[in-house]
Amino acid sequence: MMHETKFVSQIFAVLTQKLDKSSILKKITVTVRLSPFSHVSAKTLKETFKQLAEGKNFKNIELKVLPLQLLLDCKNCKRTVFIMEKKFICPFCNSSNIEIKMDKEFFIETIEVEDNK
Ligand SMILES: [Zn+2]
Repeated sequence: MMHETKFVSQIFAVLTQKLDKSSILKKITVTVRLSPFSHVSAKTLKETFKQLAEGKNFKNIELKVLPLQLLLDCKNCKRTVFIMEKKFICPFCNSSNIEIKMDKEFFIETIEVEDNK
């Protein structure tokens, strides 16, 4: 729950910054990327977001959670590939002599506000 809350707070911080009163009734879609290696799952992140959004005047918001791409570097076959799922072996040579750059766990990709004028 700790990590979920941290990520959800980040989303609210950006929303508060970006939205004014006129956006409250509009449909808003927030797209985030979550690392496949994160302890947080897309499901619990969405649940936490929904719970916390209810007390915050953000009612018409849809949260889309997409997998974050990570770079897998194979020390065996020297190839580099983007992965979007939890893997511990190289998809080319099946070696486990790999390095995955875990510099990012979560980020907010886009916030779309539907303009119905
Ligand atoms: Zn390899």
